[in-house]
Amino acid sequence: MRKLKRIIKQGASLKALNYIMLGMAIIITVILLIAMHQTTLIYEETHNATRNLFSLRKSAYELQQASDYLTEQIRYFVTSGDKAYLDDYFEEANTTKRRENALSNLKANQGDTVAFYNLNEAMRESLDLMNDEYYAARLIVDANGYDISTYPEEIQNVTLPSWIASLSTDEKKEEAEKIVFGKDYQRKKDTISTHMQTCLTELETEMSNKQTEMADKMQNQVTIEHVLTVLLIIIMFVIVLLTTSLVIRPLGVCIEKIRDEEDIPVKGAYEIKFLAKTYNLMHQTNLAKKEKLTYEATHDKLTGLYNRRGYDFLMKNLELDSCALLLIDLDKFKNINDEYGHDVGDKILIKASDSVFGNFRSQDYICRIGGDEIAVIMVNADPRLSKLITKKVRKINETLLNTSEEDNLPPISVSVGVAFGDDGITRNDIFKRADEALYNTKEKGRKGVSFYSS
Ligand code: GH3
Ligand code: MG
Repeated sequence: MRKLKRIIKQGASLKALNYIMLGMAIIITVILLIAMHQTTLIYEETHNATRNLFSLRKSAYELQQASDYLTEQIRYFVTSGDKAYLDDYFEEANTTKRRENALSNLKANQGDTVAFYNLNEAMRESLDLMNDEYYAARLIVDANGYDISTYPEEIQNVTLPSWIASLSTDEKKEEAEKIVFGKDYQRKKDTISTHMQTCLTELETEMSNKQTEMADKMQNQVTIEHVLTVLLIIIMFVIVLLTTSLVIRPLGVCIEKIRDEEDIPVKGAYEIKFLAKTYNLMHQTNLAKKEKLTYEATHDKLTGLYNRRGYDFLMKNLELDSCALLLIDLDKFKNINDEYGHDVGDKILIKASDSVFGNFRSQDYICRIGGDEIAVIMVNADPRLSKLITKKVRKINETLLNTSEEDNLPPISVSVGVAFGDDGITRNDIFKRADEALYNTKEKGRKGVSFYSS
């Protein structure tokens, strides 16, 4: 809990988030790949099972076909007496062996199943039927007086009962036909068919069950894959959201703020917050340094007033039409320096500056433009202020002449020249006019104020 609070306060670390997201994405991708592989295996299993069951069904059919083929050949032989049919019969029974092959195929694939049991039964019936067929064939050989030694062993081995010898040729043939076309023979054939059908039904049921089972498995796999894919998409969205809210947006704000030379809001990921804090500190230090440099460049060290450079800047940028310019010069200041020393001179300069500063409005600009010369730029001023200015100068002189103060400085006075701005006046002109007025004050015996008049 405390750790979580700390993370919220400091901002989540991009590095840690990156590892977590990457780890989760890798894990899910691996699981997804495994699931996809399993799906492929299930598909292959389904495919193989279907193919296998088709082949088994074909085997079952083949047993039936082989059995029917044997019946057909023996019946032809019995009715025609043509040995070629019997040769075909034994070719199938002893060489082609479709029935045996079919049975062994089913045994290999199914083992002891109901399907195999039924096919085996069909085979047993089919083999049993062959004894009847050998007997019928032997009767035909006998009836036609064929050389028995040229016939297969299975026929030679048949022993006819003694009563057969008393039958005529046609009766023997009739007897043979009775066997292969008789009810008993047909019943056995039907039994083979029934076993065959049961075998086929079993195989088909098994195929259908297998397909249902595989379809269920496949369905589960597909659901898992869907869930994993959705998870991956969610992770992707989370990554995009985190990157946007923790990096891209804060970086955009950073760029804007740096362009506007403002502090950066401390927001976003831990790393961005760290950068913002560092930048803000550097920015503030820089601003302070700049401010200090600007202040030093435009202010006088001794008095704290604007210096000549500040004065020039102000005169360039102010609307002089509505300003008044006062030039204030300390009277006989050189003598003070000579008599009391430079340090005392400096203190008097500070005192005079403070006094001027204290007697004018805060919107007026006070500048030390020379050694003992102070300029006051009064904004929004016109000749109606003349009396007020005279009063202010008087007050300043009273302060500077008053030696009873604790500072123990020698008395001094100031001479002031004033010029008011008029339409389109230049800074040189207004200065010249104020300077002329100052000269007048000095001429009139100092300690006072003169207003320029044309
Ligand atoms: P006036 O009445 O005609 O103005 O006579 P003044 O003696 O004041 O003559 P002026 O204004 O020409 O002399 C200015 C003097 O101010 C000259 C210089 O010694 C002195 N001064 C200039 N800068 C400083 C300074 O920073 N400190 C001190 N203590 N004296 C300075
Ligand atoms: Mg002077």
